[in-house]
Amino acid sequence: MASQNPVAEAPNIWGIAQSQFDHAADRLDLDEGMRRVLRVPQRELTVNFPVTMDDGSVQVFTGHRVQHNVSRGPGKGGIRYHQDVTLDEVRALAMWMSWKCACVNIPYGGAKGGVVVDPKMLSIREVEGLTRRFTTEISPLIGPDRDIPAPDVNTNAQTMAWIMDTYSMHRGYTVHGVVTGKPISVGGSLGRNEATARGAVFTLLQASKALNVPLIDARVSIQGYGNAGSIAATLLAAEGARIVAVSDSTGGIHNPSGLDPARVSAWKQEHGTVVGFPGSDQVTNQEILEIDCDILVPAALENQITKHNAPRVKARIVAEAANGPTTPEADAILHDRGVFNIPDILCNAGGVTVSYFEWVQDMQSFFWTEDRINDSLKGIMDRAFEAVRTMSERHAVDMRTAAYMVAVARVAEATMLRGLYP
Ligand code: GLU
Repeated sequence: MASQNPVAEAPNIWGIAQSQFDHAADRLDLDEGMRRVLRVPQRELTVNFPVTMDDGSVQVFTGHRVQHNVSRGPGKGGIRYHQDVTLDEVRALAMWMSWKCACVNIPYGGAKGGVVVDPKMLSIREVEGLTRRFTTEISPLIGPDRDIPAPDVNTNAQTMAWIMDTYSMHRGYTVHGVVTGKPISVGGSLGRNEATARGAVFTLLQASKALNVPLIDARVSIQGYGNAGSIAATLLAAEGARIVAVSDSTGGIHNPSGLDPARVSAWKQEHGTVVGFPGSDQVTNQEILEIDCDILVPAALENQITKHNAPRVKARIVAEAANGPTTPEADAILHDRGVFNIPDILCNAGGVTVSYFEWVQDMQSFFWTEDRINDSLKGIMDRAFEAVRTMSERHAVDMRTAAYMVAVARVAEATMLRGLYP
């Protein structure tokens, strides 16, 4: 009998990541040995570690750090705190980081970390304790030349400051470059906080030109109102788009005549959710994906657009600010229906790109202006979009397959040129 439990039926995210790789490897006619190498992560570390809670009790948390491939440079990728984190999820996210860094051609490999915790249930002091101990536990893997974490779901600049400080305390001197996404005052970069959203908007500007879908008055629906979603709303509104619906983990709001992103952010700040925003109708996180709009921005978690709802997605363009929001079955449905998808490894690569700028600035102790950062980001995103679109047209494949072909070929080339040791 089929399971009634939706979680049991959720597609395995690691299986999805591997099948996406297989598909690109087939198109590239990749050598069998290279496939075996790139199909699995190089290193995986799981740690169980204690934290003293505010009530004096000791809790043990589980976390992971995975490095998928480091042929093109140090491992790079965020650390997320979420109650549903699994090793398989972190493996998928680490593999996606390898392709993402290669897709935009920055000199990093792919890595990712996660701790199984709902940080909203912890005090700030408890989150600090958890962060410092997790950093200590994964310190055999991380370092400015080895593996450089950054923010991801439910982690932020403050979390990165604690990671930098903990690592530096172990060394006995300050090591800014061990982590990116830090506050400006401790070696962070201007523009990093906005970078994921800004990069996504740069790709949307390119897509809007290519497809002749003007951003002026385009109706936009955004799932997720965290760092990527809320800033994308602000930047898209500044381009003249109309934000008709947004959501967060508690639910969504809809107003066909447009929502003011700044006022929605202020409301969320005050009430802890976008829900209840004056003048809006309440919608669910699923409805937000199917709302009448021109551009859909999934900016939350994986596996949101599936074979079940893809037939009802009304948008002309999907811009994947989240990692892994679309399953392969949904990809095929969207492609058949003529929906243009800007895949995650291209669309949301602005975050890691400005992380790269931050790391370069830290290494040189020489900090750039925000204009230089945003201009350099635009150059990288525009070139990457162009490379992926050219690949997509040349081989008559969808944008995700094209992005994978660009990225996997680069990682395979570096891995092949370095050769097998010993
Ligand atoms: N967590 C972000 C991502 O998924 C940023 C990673 C980074 O800056 O290293 O791309």
